[in-house]
Amino acid sequence: MQNKELAQIIIHAIDKGQVKDKKALSRLKIHLSKEYKLKKLPTNQDILSSVRKPSKKIIQLLSIKPVRTLSGVAPVAIMTKPEECPHGKCIMCPGGINSYFGDVPQSYTGNEPATMRGISNNYDPYLQVFSRLWQYAAAGHNPGKIELIIMGGTFPSMEKNYQDEFVTYALKAMNDFSDLFYDKGEIDFCKFNEFFHNDTEEKIPDKREQILMSKGNSDLFSEQKRNENSWVKNVATCIETKPDFCMQKHIDQMLLLGTTRVELGVQCLEDSILKFINRGHTLNESIKATQLLKDSALKVMYHIMPGLPFSNHEKDIDMFRELFNNPDYKPDALKIYPCIVLPGTPLHKLWEKGKFVPLSTDEAAEIIAEGKKHIPKWVRIHRIQRDIPVKYASSGIDKNNLRQLVEDKLLEKGIKCQCIRCREAGIKHFKENSLTEIKTPKIFVEEYDASNGTEFFISSEDKAREYLYGFCRLRIPSTFPRKESDKDTALLRELHVMGKTAGIGSRGEGQLQHKGLGKLLLEKAEDICIKQGKNKLAVISGIGAREYYFKYGYKRTGPYVTKKLKV
Ligand code: SF4
Ligand SMILES: [Zn+2]
Repeated sequence: MQNKELAQIIIHAIDKGQVKDKKALSRLKIHLSKEYKLKKLPTNQDILSSVRKPSKKIIQLLSIKPVRTLSGVAPVAIMTKPEECPHGKCIMCPGGINSYFGDVPQSYTGNEPATMRGISNNYDPYLQVFSRLWQYAAAGHNPGKIELIIMGGTFPSMEKNYQDEFVTYALKAMNDFSDLFYDKGEIDFCKFNEFFHNDTEEKIPDKREQILMSKGNSDLFSEQKRNENSWVKNVATCIETKPDFCMQKHIDQMLLLGTTRVELGVQCLEDSILKFINRGHTLNESIKATQLLKDSALKVMYHIMPGLPFSNHEKDIDMFRELFNNPDYKPDALKIYPCIVLPGTPLHKLWEKGKFVPLSTDEAAEIIAEGKKHIPKWVRIHRIQRDIPVKYASSGIDKNNLRQLVEDKLLEKGIKCQCIRCREAGIKHFKENSLTEIKTPKIFVEEYDASNGTEFFISSEDKAREYLYGFCRLRIPSTFPRKESDKDTALLRELHVMGKTAGIGSRGEGQLQHKGLGKLLLEKAEDICIKQGKNKLAVISGIGAREYYFKYGYKRTGPYVTKKLKV
């Protein structure tokens, strides 16, 4: 029996109401595999792609990897072509042109999922986005809200034309995907399966030429405009850079591209270490970039690297304390990447000579667990550990599940991480397999000084503050690097409501985004703004999210939406 026929039996059983939930689906698959003596079962994706027009029930049962979109937004990470960083190379950096790993993006090895997708799509942004959207849709998701993540090194150091084109075609892929396969906000699986499906179970690589035919020519402005009305909306854009390529002219260009979040390679808080590892910038630039980003209403995520040469256990833990006690830093989010030794790097030579010893897995977990004591409620820890599989490292972390090991340590030590990620209603509820029902929401406001300004973290949480339903970041800046703001302006750097992406929910999931929490948070922000004597609120908003603010009286003003408030 072919997988395809088996898929038809399963679909038939679902349609007849004989398969009520995912457990029943697994039981049926196992039963059929025994009966037909199959070596391999069809995946949910295989089954889904064999239906022309799947019912809601089928999509619900066959939808996979729900955690990807639990925070309401589907991430699409794409890679830029390999190009050297202008300052040279940091001693731990594995990639770049002519590297040990071949021609790969500068800080990557070619073995990370996003780099592999980049390579197989020839670093073409159109193909990369299109194939990622295909993956989401084929897995039963509706990728209606996209966070575009541009990876590959120091994007703002690349030629402006390249940057503009890269983002143009990433957006065009979203817009074309919407035109081709969407009908009134829903994926039309008839059209979708017709385009991607044939008898040989053809997958996206075989469709590349066909996809490229629709790439055509366009420009940034046209695609941004088109995206405002697309069903696949670019609601956030993230760019990676290093602090010296994050001065105002770089920020202005990033804003032009629709950026809402910047990932800043700060790595550590000691100048002598930065010098030794050849970062090409000092702490002063990290501090300056942080303030410029915040005063331009952008979200700031730091990449930090415990275990660098000349650091030690105490210094690394102290770095966490300093990050959130010193107002010069206070990033909104973190990626924690303990230093590892990768072949072909100058650090590798030091390690070979016995002049450098990286953190072991246990040491790294210990430092991060201790560091978590200093994480405030307004920080999100996005990642712990690089996405480079450990088998490619010569020394350092030797397990791919560092995050889990850190969690085990926290449990042992009785430390509760209070970061946003650990309290996000969606993820927590999903893990517990319970409904994402909002219990006793209450508004909390945390005020703190940061980068010469005042921040208000406004959140909707349950009374015990265990579940976070949504939040926003309001800033009273002290400098006005953009013409859209002045001394009477406050900035809204982020507004986020948890919940699965609309359209793919089941059992009540997906509802969080529709309960008016966003409006509630926005009203509270406006209220604080007025109390602070500011008569204008400027909001950074992804292109596809602007429409949301128009409903509440905001008008487009450059890369922002703004509203005059009655003081
Ligand atoms: S800045 Fe980043 S990408 Fe550039 S050399 Fe250093 S680690 Fe590599
Ligand atoms: Zn956490």
